[in-house]
Amino acid sequence: MTNTLKPAEFQARLLAWFDHSGRHDLPWQHPPTPYRVWVSEVMLQQTQVATVIPYFERFMERFPDVQTLAAAPLDEVLALWAGLGYYARARNLHKAARQVVDEHGGNFPDTLEAVMALPGIGRSTAGAILSLGSGQHHPILDGNCKRVLARVHTVEGWPGESAVLKELWRLAERYTPAERCRDFNQAMMDLGATVCTRARPACLLCPLNVGCEAYRTGTQEQYPAPKPRKELPIRRVRMLLLEREGAVLLQRRPPSGIWGGLWSLPECTPEADWEAVCREQFGLEPLAWQALPVLRHTFSHFRLDIEPLRVTVEERAGARVEDEARLWYNGDTTLGLAAPVARLLEDKGD
Ligand code: SF4
Repeated sequence: MTNTLKPAEFQARLLAWFDHSGRHDLPWQHPPTPYRVWVSEVMLQQTQVATVIPYFERFMERFPDVQTLAAAPLDEVLALWAGLGYYARARNLHKAARQVVDEHGGNFPDTLEAVMALPGIGRSTAGAILSLGSGQHHPILDGNCKRVLARVHTVEGWPGESAVLKELWRLAERYTPAERCRDFNQAMMDLGATVCTRARPACLLCPLNVGCEAYRTGTQEQYPAPKPRKELPIRRVRMLLLEREGAVLLQRRPPSGIWGGLWSLPECTPEADWEAVCREQFGLEPLAWQALPVLRHTFSHFRLDIEPLRVTVEERAGARVEDEARLWYNGDTTLGLAAPVARLLEDKGD
């Protein structure tokens, strides 16, 4: 027989736990403005708190408010994001900041619908911004909350499926109180991050253990169900490290697609005649070359095998190599680089 907690008891237990064991000194909590909470939530979407903190602090130092962020060039935002991955988050953040300035006079919108209309902000992030940043009453459902609720109620299925997600939202709405909503939402995230962890949750210390179905049945680690596995397809690409007088040719990627807007190396298919590519696309004459070890990069929906080729080149007579999307890079400027490109440039040494 299940022993579900009533919302009032769930809330009282969780909030009492939060008062003595929750996280009260995260940098975005002091002060918890919608702008600061927004940036932190976006950073936290795929990244752990400990990793996010130094990035958040550097970001706030450079972009203390939405106006400064909106006025900054995208390159600078991407450079401060380098290492956090999932760069679409940074591009959306920048785009949304411009939207807040252009359409809301620089004031962060204060309704769920208006916040969700900004690029890169879903329902949970919008709820977090308005509850943690402004104390409004909205439920949230980040990965930690999903795990706690899926376990307490042994919700079957992968939360990426819409029926499962709908049930989790129903539970989040049921439990989220109007009073102390900010603390409650922070408490759910904290409980998921520190007690109801993915592996080996500390159920004996959990304030919800008296009403947790997964604990009662010893099935904690079965919830939530993982994403059904699918073999990722492998794609291959040749990247050209074209070197001239100690500098490497970089080109900016188109704004959408993988590594959108970041600086990367010229590329072609592994089967292509790369010497012809050098001459015809870049006006460069290959002088010497060396194949470097294959580098595998995994994206959410495919793996990319990068076959790097290091080529010493010289400019052909009359060639115009540099333009606004192409430059010779010798490491002395701050550019947003695609992660494997940064690694290739670093490994290249010399
Ligand atoms: S009792 Fe265990 S499984 Fe249940 S919510 Fe608490 S930590 Fe998670």
